[in-house]
Amino acid sequence: MGTERQAKVGIIGAGSVGATIAYAAMIRGVARHISLFDIAKTKVEAEVLDLNHGLLFAPQATVDGSDDVESLHGSDVVVMTAGAKQKPGQTRMDLAEANANICAKILPDVLRVAPDAVLLMVTNPVDVITEVALKISGFAWERVIGSGTVLDSSRFRFLVAKHCQVAVQNVHAYIAGEHGDSEIPLWSSATIGSIPLSQWSVPGHGHLSAAEKDKIVHNVKDAGYQVIQGKGATNYAVGLAVTNILEAILHDERRVLPVSGLLRGFRGLEDVCLSLPRIVSRRGIEAPLPIPMTVDEEAGLRESADRIRAVVRGLGY
Ligand code: NAD
Repeated sequence: MGTERQAKVGIIGAGSVGATIAYAAMIRGVARHISLFDIAKTKVEAEVLDLNHGLLFAPQATVDGSDDVESLHGSDVVVMTAGAKQKPGQTRMDLAEANANICAKILPDVLRVAPDAVLLMVTNPVDVITEVALKISGFAWERVIGSGTVLDSSRFRFLVAKHCQVAVQNVHAYIAGEHGDSEIPLWSSATIGSIPLSQWSVPGHGHLSAAEKDKIVHNVKDAGYQVIQGKGATNYAVGLAVTNILEAILHDERRVLPVSGLLRGFRGLEDVCLSLPRIVSRRGIEAPLPIPMTVDEEAGLRESADRIRAVVRGLGY
């Protein structure tokens, strides 16, 4: 893998999500080269042109791309965003068959041109697509990652921070399981400035009642639907969330992130991809951290795993 400044990020799909990841990655100087690949020639060429016109104002980099998969040649990380997105009212799981087929079609070519890449899947349903990519690629589990609940956890932390009027960076809390309707808030391990959230009662900074917690969880689960209803796609937060994962990989940061990846015996769960906090570095992901969970949280995680597994098996993987 190239050194940090030489690194190349290849992005499949130059739609709302792919183009915004390129934009965020460019501004943050994540890699020396960013390349986009999309079957929509005019669209990908226009996005590349637009990004190039802003290079003057960003850290030194090159941005290119085309409708030829060769654009991804030699990528250190390939980010997969191609595929159908939710229409208002559709769930992420509704996209499983169409997007698994797209993934199966593209991946062999990607593996040919970028055989050493870490694969970072974003296309929904991301946990299903991560497992499909793992099976198709034959890569070691460490190298096939889903953006998972990094975005959902960011939404969660934002809402807790807002309620308690503290900086979002001082809230530590994870959403685990599916990036989707069965996701699980891990309230029991949530903290603000090292104080367990269950004990948080600071004058002028609120206290979270059961009803307020329920409201926050509802808002986290509904967030994607809400944004899609209003503007037809989600792009900014996912662009930043994925860029955060790219930094953890390319800068070898060992950052703890709730990414999706294969479970190989976590609390008896295996053979399914879902999100739990893991250390992310240049090698990819490590096994999930042994995060404490209540009985209910663990039961919720199992249900989420069953749901994802059923869809993956239904697709024949
Ligand atoms: P979009 O329709 O704007 O873009 C999708 C792009 O994929 C299009 O430009 C299309 O031409 C391209 N594409 C389709 N088939 C292709 C192929 N075979 N090869 C190359 N390119 C191909 O959609 P979007 O809003 O960018 O969303 C993309 C995906 O990301 C969706 O599945 C969406 O649900 C998902 N998403 C995931 C998260 C997350 O947190 N994991 C967040 C937001 C969106």
